[in-house]
Amino acid sequence: MAERSVHHLLIGGGLAAANCARWLREAGGEGSILLVGRENDPPYNRPPLSKSYLGGKESREEILFRPDEWWGEQKIDLLTRTSVTKLDAEGRRAKLSNGDEVAFDKALLATGANVRRLRAEHADLDGIHYLRTMPTSDAIARDASDAEHVVMIGGSYIGCEVAATLTARGNKCTIVMQEDVTFERVYGAEVGGFFQRVLEEHGIEIHGAESLARFEGSDGRVTHVVTESGLSLEAGCVVIGAGVIPDVTLAKPAGLDLGETGGVACSSRLETSVPGIYAAGDICDYDSVVHGRRLRIEHWDVAFNQGKTAALNMLGQDVAHEEIPYFFSDLADWASSEYVGPGSGDTVIRGSMHDAEFTAFYVASDSGAVTAALTVGRSDDLEHARRFIKEKTAPDREKLADVGTDLGEL
Ligand SMILES: Cc1cc2nc3c(=O)[nH]c(=O)nc-3n(C[C@H](O)[C@H](O)[C@H](O)COP(=O)(O)OP(=O)(O)OC[C@H]3O[C@@H](n4cnc5c(N)ncnc54)[C@H](O)[C@@H]3O)c2cc1C
Repeated sequence: MAERSVHHLLIGGGLAAANCARWLREAGGEGSILLVGRENDPPYNRPPLSKSYLGGKESREEILFRPDEWWGEQKIDLLTRTSVTKLDAEGRRAKLSNGDEVAFDKALLATGANVRRLRAEHADLDGIHYLRTMPTSDAIARDASDAEHVVMIGGSYIGCEVAATLTARGNKCTIVMQEDVTFERVYGAEVGGFFQRVLEEHGIEIHGAESLARFEGSDGRVTHVVTESGLSLEAGCVVIGAGVIPDVTLAKPAGLDLGETGGVACSSRLETSVPGIYAAGDICDYDSVVHGRRLRIEHWDVAFNQGKTAALNMLGQDVAHEEIPYFFSDLADWASSEYVGPGSGDTVIRGSMHDAEFTAFYVASDSGAVTAALTVGRSDDLEHARRFIKEKTAPDREKLADVGTDLGEL
């Protein structure tokens, strides 16, 4: 067992921890940095795992957060294949799976999220995947190459993106989901219906209002997905996208306060209930000054920006996290969307869904204030949406819908 002492201990080898390490240096921090992550690979971007990387259009090197030599150049000690097994928050010490003990001045907890697993008979058959990591994306690509039919369980980002990518690669894809239409839970039925039409036009079969009952297989490999209503779908490979759960296995026994969303409760400066310990990314349940409520958001952009905010605060600056959460998604090269929010309400469509050039503004039914916006092909609208959300603007709905209106004047 070795004992060591560092200024900054960053726990979790994902994007939030990586960008925190980067900003500790870019903002002038000269103290020692140790980044501990349990995956085999150095920090990488997860969005391509269901898109360009899965589709064979981007390589492992292209999706890395930084090339291998960068970490040494920046004097950041990167420890992969290693877990932090215990955190003594008050005593400012951590135990690592390699037996080392680390004393620290400040720490970042960025352990991300784990996939939500579905309980179903024969769920342990080969060929059934939950997509979160690079090795799983590799395994899906391998299995899909040997399979004609691939079934996706879940009609949100993972299910729809993987179905689009694999269809473009030549597979016959089917989506099974509890919702009536794809993306219904995040974007509502009207906008979700747009994406469903795009997927169906490219040959993807979609079954809404269905629940998984069991898997069937032969010689240890999956062959069919069977739903509660009795639908039986041929499947040489299955990809499940049923959401994620924040990974608080370290935070909970360490005594850090948890928020209502199940993440680690943080101030607007992303500091946890124990001073000197910060959180960022998928586990961070923070006090949003912009939205006036607590938020925990599982987006790439949020993990990226929160890593920066945490770094600045770890260096003694006093910075609230004021970014409006942003999300992007690609369905092969058929449709790309961007979203700012989060929020819900009545949908006001600006532009044409038929021409795949529209922005859906989500407007609170009581106050009329814009709470979120999704765009396909009208990216410029997002800048205005951000302003509306920040200033709680309640524009006239007819003017908002009219593409002839200059949004800058609303
Ligand atoms: C397939 C896929 C596609 C996505 N597409 C999009 C998209 O298009 N747009 C978008 O905005 N977002 C997308 N996301 C979401 C986005 O990637 C996540 O929000 C982001 O990766 C979260 O970063 P994070 O650093 O908080 O957590 P993670 O990326 O989960 O990283 C946490 C890391 O910590 C490690 N860890 C956990 N516990 C320990 C421990 N005790 N010790 C050491 N290490 C530990 C984990 O193994 C993991 O490597 C996608 C996610 C996936 C999986």
